[in-house]
Amino acid sequence: SLFFPRYHPDGTLREIVPLRDGYEKVIRRYVRDINSVPYPTRPIVPFMRVVHDRLSVEIARGCGWGCRFCQVGFIYRPLRERGGKEILEIVREALGSTGYDEVSLLALSAGDHRCLFPLVRHLMEELEEERIALSLPSLRVGTFPEGLLEEIKRVRKTGFTLAPEAATERLQRVINKVIPRDELLEAASRLYRAGWRVMKLYFMIGLPTEREEDIREIARLAREVRARGGQVNVSVSTFVPKSHTPFQWEKMLSLEEIEEKQSLLKGVLRGRGIRLKWHDPKMSFLEGVFARGDRRLGRVLLEAHRRGCRFDGWSEHLKWDSWQEAFDRAGVDPSFYISRERSLEEVLPWAHLDPGVKVEYLREERERAYRGLPTPPCREGCERCGMCGERGGLVLADPSDIPPPARRVGVREVVLRKPWVRKIRSRFLKLGEARLLGHLEMIDVFLRAARRASIPMRFSEGFHPLPRITFSNPLPVGVESLAEFVDLELRRYIKASEFVERMNRELPDGLRILSSAEMAFKGRALPNLFTADLFLISFEHLSSPPPLEEVRGALKDFSRRDRFPVKVEKKKGIREVDLVPFVEGLRALPLEEFEPPVPLPAGVPSPSDILETEWVVELKLKKAAGVKPQRFISALLGLSSDEERLLRVLKVESLPPPL
Ligand code: SF4
Repeated sequence: SLFFPRYHPDGTLREIVPLRDGYEKVIRRYVRDINSVPYPTRPIVPFMRVVHDRLSVEIARGCGWGCRFCQVGFIYRPLRERGGKEILEIVREALGSTGYDEVSLLALSAGDHRCLFPLVRHLMEELEEERIALSLPSLRVGTFPEGLLEEIKRVRKTGFTLAPEAATERLQRVINKVIPRDELLEAASRLYRAGWRVMKLYFMIGLPTEREEDIREIARLAREVRARGGQVNVSVSTFVPKSHTPFQWEKMLSLEEIEEKQSLLKGVLRGRGIRLKWHDPKMSFLEGVFARGDRRLGRVLLEAHRRGCRFDGWSEHLKWDSWQEAFDRAGVDPSFYISRERSLEEVLPWAHLDPGVKVEYLREERERAYRGLPTPPCREGCERCGMCGERGGLVLADPSDIPPPARRVGVREVVLRKPWVRKIRSRFLKLGEARLLGHLEMIDVFLRAARRASIPMRFSEGFHPLPRITFSNPLPVGVESLAEFVDLELRRYIKASEFVERMNRELPDGLRILSSAEMAFKGRALPNLFTADLFLISFEHLSSPPPLEEVRGALKDFSRRDRFPVKVEKKKGIREVDLVPFVEGLRALPLEEFEPPVPLPAGVPSPSDILETEWVVELKLKKAAGVKPQRFISALLGLSSDEERLLRVLKVESLPPPL
């Protein structure tokens, strides 16, 4: 360590002693102009569905409002906006490399960005045709201009959140976030009039100087918003005082106080169309301890980890008893960190960390909070908090930077009426690690590849436009296939051969289009075309595979049976299925003797190139069986569930083959 803490007998810090000359403080380094550093436009795109499954582009860093509870608002000062032209370029490039269907413009207060409206208008003009939606994080009331909602909803009404944090003007002045009530209600009216059905409101309980009426007012305000026409989702979290803010000296609510205030709120915030969500008090308590902790908490962390605490941020994983044991074992009283107002002279554990804002300024702001005095936002030429001046200053974007959008009048309508609109039917393979993609994940992977490949997909109409795409029946996870099919409707003609080439450039390893054909809209939906699947099952991954003769014996035994009930796990529980009527063919044979029922199309690898085994079980299973092939084989041979998982299954053909 570069520092050593000395404590008073009462546990408070006496001093933080630097251990090396010239290293008295840790001074924050920061980028003065975020336009001057490259922005990552090729982020990792997970195959699985994740939270925030969209392209996020940071349009500004820092915030100029100075809300007194907000740590990032102080430690990311000064406000630095990204230029409008730069944002446009980043969005274009990153969408091209990721294939996302939603872009989120991120900032601590996105509504303040000088270019927001022209930027959104320009982006929507570009994104509408591809049905790429735009979303904004929670906005400050009064910062979103007229017309913004109309632009955003051109594709999809993405979630809309306003964060007043406190419901009474008195408390809003304390926290320096004054949101006039009539402006909030007007914003709600505009939102509902524009067609949004739900509005989210964020509040905090436990803010300094809070009174009972402040909590009751949350309910009253929510009801007034509700009266403007739509549903209101109210999220209430507990105020956690943070370092480097004017409230860093405050006492936090105890666990009992949090529960008491939450139950008051639950009692008064009721009614149709109003939903209340609150933060788990125990989680807030732990956050409160660690938010202003010191190195003595390291022992608590270690003890908690030893007791199996992992992922405690997910309430279902929070092991509260283990945390309490950990505090006891480490000899640390958590209330020391939570329920104690610090004196303004106390040496705080982060005193040697200097993000740039002067401590005197934080003290002044605290003083103003208690006097209910708001502080005006950042402005050019200001040097009051110590952040601007020699160390840098505000960087504000220029709205005239953004060229007016070139309108494509009526393009969409004309294209939809053209007679050549077709769909493309493709056969593709799914091999290797791609077998682990679930059906929904595979759809996402496929659609993102199609967007990256600039395939002119056709979209459904309505509230949430989606590409018109149909896959053959879902393949069980873990099964590889040489015969998957997909229909993709087009809004503009593209040659099938070009489709194959472009898609294969973008699909990840293990997914490859084998052939495509242009199709008319006529005909049955893809999933209804097939009656059966042909699988090859290999035992190559089992540590002791069953001998061929034993397998043949089991298959022979099956052929003599009238019934073969297999237990299958379904969403609604375990179900028993008799498989005899569904098995159309079953035999064990040397792999080299396997002949596909119809010749495999050109470019399809032979099963003997994929499977590393000498013999396989060939299974022709009717579609309607609804049973995984490995489940059937496992039941037939009496394999354990581990062995069942290790069976290698390759679907060779969907019957009858449509291409
Ligand atoms: S010096 Fe003034 S403008 Fe700069 S960050 Fe501080 S308050 Fe804002």
